Amino acid sequence: MTTRIGREAPLTVGIDVGGTNIRASVVDGAGEVLDTVQAPTPHSEQALEDGLDRAVRELRARHTIGAVGLAVAGFVDETRSAVRFAPHLPWEDSAVADRLTGRLGLPVILEHDANAAMWAEYRFGAAAGAHNGVLVAIGTGIGAALLVEGRLYRGSYGVAPELGHLQVVPHGRACPCGKRGCWERYCSGTALVDTAIEMLATDPMRSTILAREVFRDPGSLTGRRVAGAAQDGDPVAAEVMADFARWLGLGLAFVGDIFDPDLIVIAGGVSSSAPLFLDDAREHYAGAITGARHRPLARIRTTQLGEAAGMIGAAELARAALQPGAKGARRDYAVGSAKSGGKGAAESGDGKRARRGSAADGRAGARR
Ligand SMILES: [Zn+2]
Repeated sequence: MTTRIGREAPLTVGIDVGGTNIRASVVDGAGEVLDTVQAPTPHSEQALEDGLDRAVRELRARHTIGAVGLAVAGFVDETRSAVRFAPHLPWEDSAVADRLTGRLGLPVILEHDANAAMWAEYRFGAAAGAHNGVLVAIGTGIGAALLVEGRLYRGSYGVAPELGHLQVVPHGRACPCGKRGCWERYCSGTALVDTAIEMLATDPMRSTILAREVFRDPGSLTGRRVAGAAQDGDPVAAEVMADFARWLGLGLAFVGDIFDPDLIVIAGGVSSSAPLFLDDAREHYAGAITGARHRPLARIRTTQLGEAAGMIGAAELARAALQPGAKGARRDYAVGSAKSGGKGAAESGDGKRARRGSAADGRAGARR
């Protein structure tokens, strides 16, 4: 294994900047995580940047680091140096990369967390060899990323793609983004709970496990518990999972009709329950995409790198910024650019992005 390509590349730090925790890892050129530090995410801008500074310095005391990449749960501007908006972080139109570069004396790049995860899966994981790929990270909501002809697709202003907020049900369930009927309201860990409560309300006696749990403490229900109840044979929970699989397949078929991908990666916390829904979702995908009998269908797989994907991808993108000729550096990577996401450029539609849930075991789903 020591001869793998990339071992000689400079080490970089990838940091997953989530709403709850900061996790920073030293990653080598083969995508291996060598060292990790973790801390709770502070709630002020100053304290957050102090925390990131501290994490990098701690790792730098043990390793020689060439650059830093941040995987951010929020809108990152098209130069990847500023955060436009992050619903669970204190940054807004904030020139984060410049300030961290100033403090650390290292190149710093930002990337949306789902994009970073897609890049990691493409370089080292489930999307290796893909030409056009989609990553759908299903947790509390849906985070998504597109790989188009071997490059991350970010759109004109850095905020593509917001697949979780495609409206699939007119006048449907209310979404924190302000719209109604968004895909993630029907296809996420949150949706598993909402669908379970709706189904229990119409016929509680049919449930053997879920109804008891909800009766004891209605607020205690989680997507994981719904999946667990389905695993244990609760008929309502099984129906909830079937409904989830249907929405997953239908939503992916929308995406498939637009992008015609050859590979779809399912990541996020819900992916750990893939055996309960993935085969059904594939069938719904094939049933809903246009002309399924006359075209090759995308393989739908689960994440291989799990919750480390964002960090690994951010580290790899930071490394690419150091190596202009390297894979991944085909796009203009602004490293600590003086540009910041201007207020005027921050109009961004519905505004909120689903948080990427933690991806657990990615090997649960079979390959197609
Ligand atoms: Zn929405």
